Amino acid sequence: MNPMNVTFRCVKCGHSNRVELNGAVRQINCSACGETVDVPHNAVGDGEVRRCLLCPCPELFVRKDFPRSIGMTIIAIGIIASTITWAMYRPMTTFAILGATALLDLVVYGLVGEVLECYRCRSEYRGVKMAQHTAFEMTTYEAHRQHAARLAQHAARTLSEGQSK
Ligand SMILES: [Zn+2]
Ligand SMILES: [Zn+2]
Repeated sequence: MNPMNVTFRCVKCGHSNRVELNGAVRQINCSACGETVDVPHNAVGDGEVRRCLLCPCPELFVRKDFPRSIGMTIIAIGIIASTITWAMYRPMTTFAILGATALLDLVVYGLVGEVLECYRCRSEYRGVKMAQHTAFEMTTYEAHRQHAARLAQHAARTLSEGQSK
């Protein structure tokens, strides 16, 4: 198992950082701009992440650590190859390619590990225990998305009111 680590985007400069974690971590720094985030008390311990260390949202979900680019590449190659064989009047080869593509996609999916992701700031945690967290839930995601949208609206309104004065 990998050592515990978090991948996050700095809220200040947008730089993507990967930082190793241990139970005693108190602060996380951005390697690009030096922005410091205080880690909430008890957020991490015993190989578990109980709440997001960065934002600090208590809701995290488990998903497959599947790089979308690899999945897309596998499918794209399958589609291109099968289009060629289809044009060459080789239906059996075409179906074999499509079947192999689907199978390869499935195998890769089965091989990759899991990652814990924050609903709010999309920070990703690897090498942590995930038993107490559940898979992605659309309702929770929607609640966070709408909350963020309301905050953005509020900020925009405050800004425009300030300008009109
Ligand atoms: Zn930064
Ligand atoms: Zn977060």
